[in-house]
Amino acid sequence: MINNHIPSNHPRAKSLYIRNLLVTGFKSGLVVPEGLLAHGRGEAFDYLIGEHTSVYALHAIKAASSLLLLADHPVISVNGNSAALCAREMVELANYSSAFLEVNLFYKSRNREYLISETLKKNGANIVLGLDKKNSIDIIDLTSSRRHVDLEGIYKADVVLVPLEDGDRTSALIKMKKKVITIDLNPLSRTSQSATISIIDNIVRAMPYLVETTKKIKNMKRSSLEKIVEEYDNQYNLDKSIKLIRGNADSKLR
Ligand code: ATP
Ligand code: MG
Repeated sequence: MINNHIPSNHPRAKSLYIRNLLVTGFKSGLVVPEGLLAHGRGEAFDYLIGEHTSVYALHAIKAASSLLLLADHPVISVNGNSAALCAREMVELANYSSAFLEVNLFYKSRNREYLISETLKKNGANIVLGLDKKNSIDIIDLTSSRRHVDLEGIYKADVVLVPLEDGDRTSALIKMKKKVITIDLNPLSRTSQSATISIIDNIVRAMPYLVETTKKIKNMKRSSLEKIVEEYDNQYNLDKSIKLIRGNADSKLR
């Protein structure tokens, strides 16, 4: 039994368990109600993907690890859902890739920023950017609260990991000549379509792979990491992810 409701042999136990993490996050103030709905959109795509990490997602993960390791100033942007689902992995990835963690919220409040920062710190983070108003600067071209970024973090970054992201910010960051990595179950979203590297997978499955891969290739020569990034084709990967969904749906036709 996972908590008092979900039998561990239930066919959808994993999916229910993930929901439970978000509901717990919602009750503690980490997650906003809109975050629960956004997760629902992701879940629908996960069902169509087959609820496993595809070979295309694994390719994207390897390219993403390489890009993070090659970066001069990598930053991992953390929101409520990602903190509720994988705070530990976010901190581990930051450690292996020497990246900064920054809290950046669409539905912004001081309390939620603080709670997310505390969650990251409880999971081993030393520094969490995005809370010090003195260091805050606005991204032009962006109207949502996501425009407030940290001068030492996203503003200065050359590579930004933005999981569960909104399309507007991805485009704005790309316009600022930054490389953007996203984790998004929807290969059709504006975010997936405009990012440099789109990992089409559930964040709960993708993050442990991202941590493990980064740890494994951390000491590779720069030239080998550059080759991995050069050989990676995001459009090809997106096309394959869409075909995977079509194939799964077609297999149910009688
Ligand atoms: P866009 O603004 O990029 O067009 P959207 O408006 O459809 O996307 P948002 O609500 O802005 O979606 O962002 C949430 C995104 O996160 C959705 O694309 C959803 O599929 C995805 N998502 C939600 N939960 C997860 C999860 N657990 N793992 C990966 N992706 C997820
Ligand atoms: Mg959106």
